[in-house]
Amino acid sequence: MMNRRRCLATALVIAVSACASRGTPAPAVADVSIVSRTEWGAKDPVLPMREHRIERITIHHTATRQNGERSLADKLRGLQAFSQRDDSLGDGRRKPAWADIPYHYYIAVDGTVGEARSWRYVGDSNTPYDPTGHLLIVVEGNFEDEQLTDGQMRALASLVTSFARQFGVPSERLGAHKDYASTRCPGRNLYAELPRLRALIDRSG
Ligand SMILES: [Zn+2]
Repeated sequence: MMNRRRCLATALVIAVSACASRGTPAPAVADVSIVSRTEWGAKDPVLPMREHRIERITIHHTATRQNGERSLADKLRGLQAFSQRDDSLGDGRRKPAWADIPYHYYIAVDGTVGEARSWRYVGDSNTPYDPTGHLLIVVEGNFEDEQLTDGQMRALASLVTSFARQFGVPSERLGAHKDYASTRCPGRNLYAELPRLRALIDRSG
């Protein structure tokens, strides 16, 4: 009896995970090659994560200066190490250890794109909003005073339009961190690009 019950439970778990991973294919983005976690040498997540269904696309900036010297892989390994430990933020607040990088995609200063946390799992935030259902894209720079490079602009437009189409996200659900929480993220120069990106989604849909 015990054995039979255990078999049933195992069968249920397999059925549930098959449902979760079926349906939405891994995103492919036109004109952008995404550096995978394996390629940049990601470590495994250090905590459990929750699955979700993508309903919004939300833009962030790193709030650090653009740096053309370090490789994308090196930046992502550094960001993952910071994300996965207890640490203090620039403003002195503490952050807890997260399972992984809080965002799903990272656009470096040269326009190269890295896969961060898998989009299948809810991201994380330093601010009180619930990122469930949000596909989180972070762009390298502090866009309160820096400008996006042409490469970043092109990569962001490709990611946003491809993901909107693949996940069925309407243009009005493209937003930025500051639309959900009290923060300057993603900085005024990047925030000013959102109307243009929404128009691109409408045109490509
Ligand atoms: Zn943010």
